[in-house]
Amino acid sequence: HISKLPHVGTTIFTVMGALAKTHQAINLSQGFPDFKMDAKLIDLVTKAMQNGHNQYAPMQGSINLRKAIAKKFNLLYKTSYHPESEITITTGATEAIFSIISAFVKPKDEVIVFRPAYDCYEPAIALNGGKTISIEQKSPNFKVDWDEVKSKINRRTKMMIINSPQNPIGTVFSETDMLKLQELTKNTNIIILSDEVYEHIVFDGETHQSACLFPDLKSRSFVVASFGKTFHNTGWRIGYCCAPKPLMSEFRKVHQFNVFCVNHPMQKALADYLENENHYLELSAFYQQKRDLFLSLITDSQFTFSPSKGTYFQVLDYSEITDENDVDFAKRLTVENKLASIPISVFYENNVDSKVLRFCFAKKDETLKRAADILNNL
Ligand code: GLN
Repeated sequence: HISKLPHVGTTIFTVMGALAKTHQAINLSQGFPDFKMDAKLIDLVTKAMQNGHNQYAPMQGSINLRKAIAKKFNLLYKTSYHPESEITITTGATEAIFSIISAFVKPKDEVIVFRPAYDCYEPAIALNGGKTISIEQKSPNFKVDWDEVKSKINRRTKMMIINSPQNPIGTVFSETDMLKLQELTKNTNIIILSDEVYEHIVFDGETHQSACLFPDLKSRSFVVASFGKTFHNTGWRIGYCCAPKPLMSEFRKVHQFNVFCVNHPMQKALADYLENENHYLELSAFYQQKRDLFLSLITDSQFTFSPSKGTYFQVLDYSEITDENDVDFAKRLTVENKLASIPISVFYENNVDSKVLRFCFAKKDETLKRAADILNNL
């Protein structure tokens, strides 16, 4: 067979985005803001280009940007990563994830993944000959059963991928969850890939539990993060990852031959921007307002939900509306009612019967109001 990924189709984000476009639907499917990013940051890109930063960036990333990231870790998590040897700038978090998996996963290695899981993890594991071991989190509370996790750890377990706040379901790991994870992986060589791209979007006064806050976990973890979600510029494709030096050296062996380096002027601009701005500190409050508005508008609808605890996604259960499976319902909602969302069954191993759709609320208030009108009339 010529295909290395016979079980993989086109990502749901592309499918639903295209359908939304064809049918001129309000697009709450793929996660991206429909409002403007800060014009100051755009001006800084122009400045960086005019100042001649138009050739390759360093393979590891612009050093000033890495220093700014190190400062952020000090400020927010009171922990240090060395900018020279422990931080690398990547082409979005997606490249970091792909390169981490490629750098460590060998044929027959097992990787534990919590489902519903963002869709780029499993194909990367499969391409490297690894085996995805799924832990299922079920609607409505999506709790992790740590005894199940324990039962799935064995000597073939090479890596565990966690994602808090979790896309698509908007749950977060508590300190207790992280301590459990630390305890279960203590004295093992299991690498933790901690996808923390929504680290600055956590609600109701909770704090983000980064893997870097737990010293034993930190020593075995890659923390993966992203600027797109934070500065409203998902199209820039700039992310980064941090890890202790021995892990990072292995990572760079792959990164250098995958993309070599990342867009230079935008890295310069972000580095300059981070010198004066830390608006990520206000991001949780900003998105909590969006979440609260969206949910207040649909309290009388037939959807049931518990409020998202983090990310800019809200999942809604529609079992009181129809028996249709979520893929069909999401498509019908887009074509007939002009509102696009993401069915969450595609993020499970065996397309479970979930009756849950994901809606992105990183949108202007007026967009959320128009979407709510549609949801209220179903
Ligand atoms: N992270 C975005 C989301 O979950 C999607 C990015 C993409 O389209 N691959 O909606």
